[in-house]
Amino acid sequence: MMTDLLVHKGSAYKSPTQIARVITEQWLQDNMYCPSCDSTHLDPTTPGTKVYDFQCDSCEERYQLKAKSTKFGRKLTDSAYGPLKDAIEHDVAPSFFFLRYTRDAWKVLDLFTIPSHFFTINALEERRPLRKTARRSGWIGCNILLDRLPPDGWIEIIKDGSIRSPGAVRDEWRRFSFLRESTVRSRGWTSDVLTCVRKLGKSEFSLQEMYGFEEELRELHPRNRHIRPKIRQQLQVLRDKEVLRFLGRGRYMVRD
Ligand SMILES: [Zn+2]
Repeated sequence: MMTDLLVHKGSAYKSPTQIARVITEQWLQDNMYCPSCDSTHLDPTTPGTKVYDFQCDSCEERYQLKAKSTKFGRKLTDSAYGPLKDAIEHDVAPSFFFLRYTRDAWKVLDLFTIPSHFFTINALEERRPLRKTARRSGWIGCNILLDRLPPDGWIEIIKDGSIRSPGAVRDEWRRFSFLRESTVRSRGWTSDVLTCVRKLGKSEFSLQEMYGFEEELRELHPRNRHIRPKIRQQLQVLRDKEVLRFLGRGRYMVRD
């Protein structure tokens, strides 16, 4: 893997956005392996395909690439809301690559991936329809709310220009691939409760502290009236998958 972007690949384009898109897609095609399986390359999807930009022929994982030259904050503008929402609800959400490049040296600075099994409907925000005067009037875009996802879902591939070993990346990916075994809704709960555990930022915590997220979780799951039992249930899931250890008397330990 190299971090250099081949600028000449974008020479047919004038708009900086298009140039960036073309050369970052080319980079991914030339350099990126599949983090979900042992395949050494990814294939671009047919031009014009919604939601997915790349796919793995081996394991059939599909990916969307978001590239920009500025840091990724908590909120990221993405494409159309409807198709991505449908994909999540039908359990065919893409995994994401987030790529940050520098325009000075044309290099990839940071690259991280979020596996589709972490991507929940709560991380998607519908934007206002475009105004009547806009060229695509009425079109509805979306934002991806990165802070709604647990840090475990962000897997670094390149950090500040240095490349991590594919083995370490794939290990992190597989650590939570058990989420795929459950339904979209229950997977969302596991992810949301794990996000709360990580927000506490402690190696040991209590059930009472987790109940402190009750309101926050109620807002994310307005139709569920049993938030506390749900918290306890998801803590058990995380224990069974060896993410947490129960210490007794409502105390938990994070296994890292
Ligand atoms: Zn694969």
